[in-house]
Amino acid sequence: MAKIIAIANQKGGVGKTTTSVNLAACIAAKKKKVLLVDCDPQGNASSGFGVEKSALDKTIYHVLIDNVPVSEVIQKTEFKVDILPANIELAGAEVELVAAISRETRLKKALDAVRDNYDYILIDCPPSLGLLTLNSLAAADSVIMPIQCEFYALEGVAQLMKTIELVRSNLNAELAVEGVVMTMYDSRTKLAEQVVDEVRNSFDTAVYKTMIPRTVRLSEAPSFGQPILYYDKKSKGAEVYMKLAKEVIARG
Ligand code: ADP
Ligand code: MG
Repeated sequence: MAKIIAIANQKGGVGKTTTSVNLAACIAAKKKKVLLVDCDPQGNASSGFGVEKSALDKTIYHVLIDNVPVSEVIQKTEFKVDILPANIELAGAEVELVAAISRETRLKKALDAVRDNYDYILIDCPPSLGLLTLNSLAAADSVIMPIQCEFYALEGVAQLMKTIELVRSNLNAELAVEGVVMTMYDSRTKLAEQVVDEVRNSFDTAVYKTMIPRTVRLSEAPSFGQPILYYDKKSKGAEVYMKLAKEVIARG
């Protein structure tokens, strides 16, 4: 049965999608069966895997709102990862779910049907703490938090932790913090070092040893619709995300 991991941080631009896409591809490259759930209306995880967002007939929106079975929406990609795609239509779900029955647990119920088909299900969360993120956290066994190595890095993380607490007491008692991944790390700056120290003080061993450096190749890959492992196999980005995949798998 799949382990379900939500990649969450309500701050935008911290590397959630980059981590979701590349971690999914790297875990799959290690012979695990992986489903990537795109839970962000921006649909960047979908396009990062070469899925043509605007051409989609059915998306995660229809799973959440119209009870369409996930098996009818999941697409295979050429990168050994299956994807439950999203596009801008999903923005409507944030509003439409408000009045829906069991509005926070719809994704969980939907994924139950395919959980046995995968080793890992990763969920790329949107940059908010609304109903789409709540659905993701309710469905997940654990959370990976990408934190960008910048000033005020921890701003907002307290709020995310509070949300995780709320989800634990109301929706999903077992929700764990899987790990914290430092992104856009620049080893030449003192600031990056300070930020990592600060995050380690808060999260201790939950912080992955692998830190993701800022590299141009990682930011280029999405426009080619390819995870870094396929866009540039020999790049630093491919190397670090393979290492991160190894650490994630090793945590069991
Ligand atoms: P989020 O999903 O948290 O909003 P993204 O993963 O979309 O963040 O990243 C935000 C932007 O930063 C994107 O343009 C992405 O290509 C870029 N980016 C993310 N990680 C890196 C990195 N390690 N090196 C360089 N650019 C990165
Ligand atoms: Mg994103």
